Amino acid sequence: MLKHANKHAEGGCAELGNLFFSTSIFDLPDDLDEWPNERDNISPADIDNVRRSTGARDVFTQRAIDAGFLEDAIFRPRLKGWMIENLKGHKFQEKQVDTTVVALLVKSAITQPENVHVIITGDADILPAIRVAYPEYSNNVFVATTHPDQLKSESRQTSYALADFDYSIEPFFLERKAEEILEGCNVYSCVHCNKVFSRPAPIPTRAQPCCNPCHQKRT
Ligand SMILES: [Zn+2]
Repeated sequence: MLKHANKHAEGGCAELGNLFFSTSIFDLPDDLDEWPNERDNISPADIDNVRRSTGARDVFTQRAIDAGFLEDAIFRPRLKGWMIENLKGHKFQEKQVDTTVVALLVKSAITQPENVHVIITGDADILPAIRVAYPEYSNNVFVATTHPDQLKSESRQTSYALADFDYSIEPFFLERKAEEILEGCNVYSCVHCNKVFSRPAPIPTRAQPCCNPCHQKRT
């Protein structure tokens, strides 16, 4: 991404500045395991799910912090009973993360106009807010995201947001660098579907790399 900025930004871009990581991780109450006994609409499986997803997010966040990302934009809201119901219906929305990303980006871009600023997001819907708050964004802001072709039709609105966004520095499409981003010793790109995957053991050099879903389909 630094190389991308250096190549496309006027005046170049040689080093990384502040790195912010914005997410929201539930602060789990001590009596969480009692909830299924106390409430009709919460099962032990729900508690298990919330524990696992919170744990996974915690690990991911810690790795970002270890890699040098600042903790300022990490929220730890207390888990409440009603949230479990919304989580199950995928209706739980964490708005503070998106609004914080926009606020931080606009603040950096305005106070350091000579620097290049990148927003890494899977949700291009936050781009219009940047455009409104900082109309000069196209000079020194670029987006790292997935290419609109990778999105399902229900996310099409997102691709409009991206197409509407002007830039002098072209977007950085993450999937094109997937082979460099993915961790693991044996990273391959499938000859059939181009998906990038990793394996515990290397594929013999004579064989064609083929991902598991494609392999299942073909046998
Ligand atoms: Zn495949």
